[in-house]
Amino acid sequence: MESQYNAAAIEQKWQQQWVKQGLDKTPENSDKPKFYALSMFPYPSGNLHMGHVRNYVITDVIARLKRLQGYRVLHPMGWDAFGLPAENAAIDRNIPPADWTKQNIAQMRQQLQTLGLSIDWDREVATCFPDYYKWTQWLFLQFYQAGLAYQKEAAVNWDPVDQTVLANEQVDSEGYSWRSGAKVERKLLRQWFFKITDYAEQLLTDLDKLSGWPDRVKLMQENWIGKSVGAYLEFPVKDSDEKIAVFTTRPDTVYGVTYVVLAPEHPLTPKVTTEGQKAAVEGFIEEVSNESEIERTAEDKPKRGILTGGTAINPFNGEEIPILIADYVLYEYGTGAVMGVPAHDTRDFKFATEKQLPIKVVIVPENSEDNNPTLTEAYTEPGIMVNSSDFDGMQSTEGKTAIIDYAEKQGYGKARIQYRLRDWLISRQRYWGCPIPVVHCPNCGTVPVPDADLPVKLPENVEFTGRGASPLAKMEDWINVPCPNCSEPAKRETDTMDTFIDSSWYYLRYTDAINDQEAFKLEKANDWMNVDQYVGGIEHAILHLLYSRFFTKVLRDRGLVNVDEPFNRLLTQGMVQAMAYKNPKTGKYIPVDKVNPESPKDPDTGDDLDVFYEKMSKSKYNGVDPKKVLGKYGADTARMFILFKAPPEKDLEWDDADVEGQFRFLNRVWRLVNGYVEKKPEVISNKEFSKEEKGLRRAIHTAIKEISEDLEGDYQFNTAVSELMKLSNALNDAKCIDSAVYREGIETLLILLAPFAPHIAEELWHNLGHDHSIHLETWPQVDPTALVVDEITLVIQIMGKTRGTIQVPANSSKEELEKLARESDIGQRNLDGKEVKKVIVVPGKLVNFVVPK
Ligand SMILES: [Zn+2]
Repeated sequence: MESQYNAAAIEQKWQQQWVKQGLDKTPENSDKPKFYALSMFPYPSGNLHMGHVRNYVITDVIARLKRLQGYRVLHPMGWDAFGLPAENAAIDRNIPPADWTKQNIAQMRQQLQTLGLSIDWDREVATCFPDYYKWTQWLFLQFYQAGLAYQKEAAVNWDPVDQTVLANEQVDSEGYSWRSGAKVERKLLRQWFFKITDYAEQLLTDLDKLSGWPDRVKLMQENWIGKSVGAYLEFPVKDSDEKIAVFTTRPDTVYGVTYVVLAPEHPLTPKVTTEGQKAAVEGFIEEVSNESEIERTAEDKPKRGILTGGTAINPFNGEEIPILIADYVLYEYGTGAVMGVPAHDTRDFKFATEKQLPIKVVIVPENSEDNNPTLTEAYTEPGIMVNSSDFDGMQSTEGKTAIIDYAEKQGYGKARIQYRLRDWLISRQRYWGCPIPVVHCPNCGTVPVPDADLPVKLPENVEFTGRGASPLAKMEDWINVPCPNCSEPAKRETDTMDTFIDSSWYYLRYTDAINDQEAFKLEKANDWMNVDQYVGGIEHAILHLLYSRFFTKVLRDRGLVNVDEPFNRLLTQGMVQAMAYKNPKTGKYIPVDKVNPESPKDPDTGDDLDVFYEKMSKSKYNGVDPKKVLGKYGADTARMFILFKAPPEKDLEWDDADVEGQFRFLNRVWRLVNGYVEKKPEVISNKEFSKEEKGLRRAIHTAIKEISEDLEGDYQFNTAVSELMKLSNALNDAKCIDSAVYREGIETLLILLAPFAPHIAEELWHNLGHDHSIHLETWPQVDPTALVVDEITLVIQIMGKTRGTIQVPANSSKEELEKLARESDIGQRNLDGKEVKKVIVVPGKLVNFVVPK
């Protein structure tokens, strides 16, 4: 038996032992209830950072806990391995993306294994390998057959540096690319889309089923889907057969329309533009074409627009109104046109004021005396309709339906529901992604690659220059293939898929990861789904989670799974932050090791530095390398610190002193258990528990109760660790070392500790003489009788003044308490023949005697 706690030695030993024993394998044939614990899989950058460590440790504690609690557990890991960095590495270092990715995966897998994670590595998946992406392609074709994958010409966000199309969410609020930092341009390209809008309503209403998700995540999804209920209305163009269609959530304000606005790209724009405005309109369109969508719609930006010279007619009152174009109206969104109601819409009010367009009031507050007030800002509240012909005097909330009914009868409008959610643009003009399995034939058009010919493999020996179109577009041998349909010469699709597709179904693959006949067996997917606990970063609150939900619903409709939703419970862990030092004058971050923490100054300029906690990152020079922490203290200490320092959903501030604190705690447990083993006490089971034993039992079962409760639902690991410390202290203080109760206490402590610090718990468990793994044990049950407090401390007061305390049975009645207090030494001494006028008894607390002065 080692006398010193040597984390490195025992951790390596047990990690190897556990692999040999197959402890982390997923039980296949078992009657136990199932539990599917899943971490969001990482991109294999090559280096594990603290954010990863926190994520995977949280999931691991849950997986280990559930095994102890009698579940069969699926706890897999894999790699979200397609994406730009591998391609950039190929450009910078001339390494094929596949080789670079394989190296990184090997490196990260090794790093993960040092954390002692109970992962079933037999089910490892990597999205970039043909045995996985074959099925991504097969699933794409499922979408295609369902009419949910289609091509259309679309204005896209074009990154001029990476030469690729970006999704909206890859463009920041200033209009710059998330990866290259380049100013994003707009460009028209033929693109593949997934029709996620067909599922908008289900994706919205099924949020109600997700009771185990954080409310803020559900709210973010709800806003992203953005349902609005309103009216579709048509405004005829004067002297033309054309009509401008708009969507509005405020049909009650339609009599207040004083202009309409088209998106610059709207097909009607050239048709309504007059000769006199032509040059100005074309100039404006040219200007807008280089702006990203996010720039155009940014709230804080002035709205730019210009008159086309054309005139539309408000069908409700026959008024002639000007037609404008403006940058804030997007052709891809809604109808690509909006009606302008400056009196009752904040944005329109600003725009009309700037453009000197008329403002016409049609809603006034209840009991208003003036039907034509001069507004200083838009009146957006409900009220009474005025200047609205037959609708005058009506409540505006009722007016909405009345106007829609009227428009429907007249034939120029109807009720409509609109969503902010748009179809998912999945085309990427990149090499390192899953090839879209279709062929373009001059005779047959778009032809899916037959299932038997899947996967369409990525060609090797590709040249990466970093410029121009996708490297695939230059691979003549690969592109030119006979049409699967008519055998005439045809061309492969050269776009690859958005990597979010790869990660939209990986949780299903894990249920049947080695199947080379199917993406996954229906029975296996149905057996393990849903994921019971999903753990990952809040940055995935919208896209990854929404796309995964969409995939699950489509696959359900194709009969491939039987569930509506993929993830029952979601835990979004907080960030890992560390102290950062920044020079407020230069804005530069200074590496932590160049700063004296006592008086932080810039070593170059001598300026005082700002000191604050910030997310660990390379650019802030404040990362803590997991390898270093593990090397110094071991995985168990790192795990304990991460779990103890903050509740899992909150940000965690790195603190070396607290890491040290956890290391000391594990050392105390080490000495406690090994000290016990060395004394080789006889284990005596008394029929009646002594007072000492009763106290210790209470401590043991309180720990079981508190920790079990902390690990239900919200997983309050931090308070659970505090309870472990209390139990360890109670054992340290207890004198009854040769009692069976003490032995129970030591074993319980180790089992409760096992999910948190699995290696040291295993080592000490074996030191106690067990020869099976502690991770095969059963989570201890609370004995409620052990929690009963049988004696309490009673305070004795005379005239409200405390004279002393006595120990009394906890279940004593009021009368008994009074009697015990009177007869006690303290009572007799202080009352000594005095006449007691009154006795106040507070059960469980005190007895107060009132006597004459
Ligand atoms: Zn053909």
